[in-house]
Amino acid sequence: MFSKILIANRGEIAVRIIGTCRKMGIATVVVYSEADAGSLAVEMADESVPIGPPPAAQSYLVAEKIIAACRATGAEAVHPGFGFLSERAEFARACAAEGLVFIGPNPGAIDAMGDKIASKRKALEAGVSCVPGYVGEIEGPEHAVTISEEIGYPVMLKASAGGGGKGIRIAWNRRDVKEGFSAVRAEAKGAFGDDRIFIEKFIVDPRHIEIQVLGDKHGQVLHLFERECSIQRRNQKVIEEAPSPLLDATTRAAMGAQAVALAKAVGYDSAGTVEFVAGQDKSFYFLEMNTRLQVEHPVTELITGLDLVEQMIRVAAGEKLGFSQKDLAINGWAIESRIYAEDPYRGFLPSIGRLVRYHAPKEGKRDGFIVRNDAGVREGDEISMFYDPMISKLAAWGPDRGAAIDGMGQALEEFHIEGPAQNLPFLSAVMDQPRFREGALSTAYIPEQFPDGFQGLEPTPWQLNVMTAAACAMHRVQTRRNGHALSGLKPAQPRDEWIVVIGDKKRRVRLADADGGLEVELLDEQHRLVLSAVDWRPGRPVFQGVLDGRRFAAEVAPAAEGFRIRHRAARQRVLVLTPISAELHERLPVKQAADTSRLVVSPMPGLVVSVEVVAGQEVKSGETVCVVEAMKMQNIIRAERDGVIKAVNAKAGDSVAADEVLAEFG
Ligand code: ADP
Ligand code: ADP
Ligand code: MG
Repeated sequence: MFSKILIANRGEIAVRIIGTCRKMGIATVVVYSEADAGSLAVEMADESVPIGPPPAAQSYLVAEKIIAACRATGAEAVHPGFGFLSERAEFARACAAEGLVFIGPNPGAIDAMGDKIASKRKALEAGVSCVPGYVGEIEGPEHAVTISEEIGYPVMLKASAGGGGKGIRIAWNRRDVKEGFSAVRAEAKGAFGDDRIFIEKFIVDPRHIEIQVLGDKHGQVLHLFERECSIQRRNQKVIEEAPSPLLDATTRAAMGAQAVALAKAVGYDSAGTVEFVAGQDKSFYFLEMNTRLQVEHPVTELITGLDLVEQMIRVAAGEKLGFSQKDLAINGWAIESRIYAEDPYRGFLPSIGRLVRYHAPKEGKRDGFIVRNDAGVREGDEISMFYDPMISKLAAWGPDRGAAIDGMGQALEEFHIEGPAQNLPFLSAVMDQPRFREGALSTAYIPEQFPDGFQGLEPTPWQLNVMTAAACAMHRVQTRRNGHALSGLKPAQPRDEWIVVIGDKKRRVRLADADGGLEVELLDEQHRLVLSAVDWRPGRPVFQGVLDGRRFAAEVAPAAEGFRIRHRAARQRVLVLTPISAELHERLPVKQAADTSRLVVSPMPGLVVSVEVVAGQEVKSGETVCVVEAMKMQNIIRAERDGVIKAVNAKAGDSVAADEVLAEFG
């Protein structure tokens, strides 16, 4: 076994690999860019080596720097994690040439599978069912149109070197193909340094189901069952689970057999993933093979009890797999939520910034479920524009799917993050949706469930009670304090009848102290809420308590006359008023939102790639105004109305903030 391993990655996956190395008694080295000098991975590793400026192209992607770091520290093997150099065959070869072991598949297997066009050819040869399409390189927009029309719309334009959902576009017609082609090509060039594009049929309303494979250097290849990753936005996974609610034992065995056949055909000898799209009728088609550890591997670990990083290290060291297919079984159910720095209320646009507060739920065994949180950050760390905006991966295991969903809901509720925008409310919403619970998944889940974009969910009766009780408790603490300050002596006896206003609902309540909490009598509903075990002080962003025997946590912030409260996916302003001020409040005029329809604003921070309009130009709704690049994605900003452009405020090369005005209509 190796005595020292270098990790050529950052963030949570670097931390994850260090964890396994420690368990195995292997010393670790991490490399880090200037942006990651103070990172958790650097703190945890036994040694660390700086490799240059923040942009990955000047640090994490420079093979020579990684190899030099191995030489300098005496590391014998390199784990590449995912992304970066993990699927670069030349890097694996360069390692071998230096006498270093690449902890991943052999370079021949990466070559065969690391490229989508080549892998599709190979899959067809191995008898794997593939998405219909053109298995070759597209020369230009005209060629793309011809091919698309042969395949039949809708089609998908894809970068052959693509990954992480980048360099992919659906096209429903000729215009989409023409526009999309240049955008995908530019994105592919920027993100992967390779602008080869191919086209395949877009399977409408499919599910994403993938098979985890594991091979050794002695010819054995097994599969570790499936993961379903259908909850996606921008063709990127956000929620994954294992097993899949779609599959039965027969389909599972058939998919597993195809994945193993493909892996064997290329002499696969590490952990890898064969991705399929599946129809609701359980038909399935090969998409691509990822020749590396996958982001969502924790769910497979939770249902199999295996440590995939450990298995990768063992097979890389030449060990035989210590088990065979018949030794493997699925135990329970696991779900993973990717916690991203992105704003779900604004089309999931990426966000950046310092984690002013970062409080993760407690990991380990709970009552009826297990919580695992793979994170590479701690409070005070920065989510920077240079890398993937993932904050952490929260996983929950339960004996069955319902228990795993309940566990995830609870763990998400306990997670608190401030600083960059984050998607916790969105993830909570999915856990609380009946459709998700039924397992009726599809890659169109998000647009179908949130057709007008994500706006949170309406509070349920239980959530209204949570908000009512929390607001009353906080209000009581504050009035007591104020009373204290005013009288300078003992707290004034607080008034006990109040009106709680939540959205457009009003509730008359009577409050009474109870042991360690509060009793809230709902006067119109003749019902009494019992709040106990309150954990909150003024200024704290999280309110925890037990309401009617059920534990909850909610995010709270002061607002005029009351509080802003978020419980899971429900956000409300909650006011606690005297009957007289409630009456006055009702007569207040409703604030009018400013008219922004004349403005074309950047929906996210980014770099202006091009501006397609000039002042005085007439444009139609849907026409491109400009293209803004953010997180390596090219976003087309379109006019939302017909009209004449009065002013253009941006030019190519400008960096713009979210909401910055790019152009104005007359
Ligand atoms: P797929 O490529 O099929 O989307 P994953 O969902 O597992 O598979 O995504 C892996 C992607 O994550 C990589 O291709 C890369 O773009 C991105 N990535 C790279 N490095 C990191 C990292 N350190 N943390 C998170 N994501 C990363
Ligand atoms: P990446 O390497 O970026 O992961 P994939 O080829 O795996 O690219 O595709 C990413 C996602 O896009 C898939 O998980 C699936 O949801 C969707 N997708 C890809 N190809 C198709 C297709 N032909 N039809 C329908 N959806 C597709
Ligand atoms: Mg993929």
